[in-house]
Amino acid sequence: MSDRLQKVLAHAGVASRRASEKLILTGHVRVNGKIITTLGAKVEPTDRIEVDHHPIKLEDPVYFVLNKPRGVITSATDEKDRKTVLDYFKHKVSERIYPVGRLDYDTSGVLLLTNDGQLDFQLTHPKHHVPKTYLAKVEGIPDENALEQLRTGVRLPDHQRSAPAEVRQLANVGQHEARGLLELTIFEGHNHEVKNMLQAVGHPVERLKRTAFAGIDLGGLEPGQWRPLRKREVRNLL
Ligand code: URA
Repeated sequence: MSDRLQKVLAHAGVASRRASEKLILTGHVRVNGKIITTLGAKVEPTDRIEVDHHPIKLEDPVYFVLNKPRGVITSATDEKDRKTVLDYFKHKVSERIYPVGRLDYDTSGVLLLTNDGQLDFQLTHPKHHVPKTYLAKVEGIPDENALEQLRTGVRLPDHQRSAPAEVRQLANVGQHEARGLLELTIFEGHNHEVKNMLQAVGHPVERLKRTAFAGIDLGGLEPGQWRPLRKREVRNLL
């Protein structure tokens, strides 16, 4: 079956689909020895694809969910040598996986990782409105007015407005009164969006955890634990 070159590169774990398109447009990619710089080019599984003269080994797509602990970087490398989310997969997963979107250093919770650049593209593209649910411990106790502002949209530091969000104030957690705990579901993903939304209504975040992403939740995963997604979960994502 023939497929578009940028999709094949993304599936092979070379880079995200957007970054693969850039590699093609800037002349880094050869098919059967010939440089290809158009995005519509189709390739067959038998074609020889190289990026900067390195042959691409096509991998089967793999999908994982990690409970990212606080104090871990969501990227492949860190110049300050801090622990990264990929350290949890070292010597256990041979495919070239990378995180789908990002969580801040001090945010914990659901993080998907894959080598499927197509899925990465779909889940991180703003037009797909993928739901992301967070549990936020905030300073003070937000009143109804603050909650309503969060629901309708607040001004973010980049002068954009946040899109409508679902917001719920938790009354009790276990035996503890918990009105400084909010559950927010957002459908876009500006940088530091949840922290900025809560800052904008006067209740800065003290602690943030993502409890679900695109319908995948933590289940029983402890911080630092991960598992492959089930076939059904992957089907629901695609
Ligand atoms: N919003 C934030 O502010 N931080 C995160 O890590 C994720 C969403």
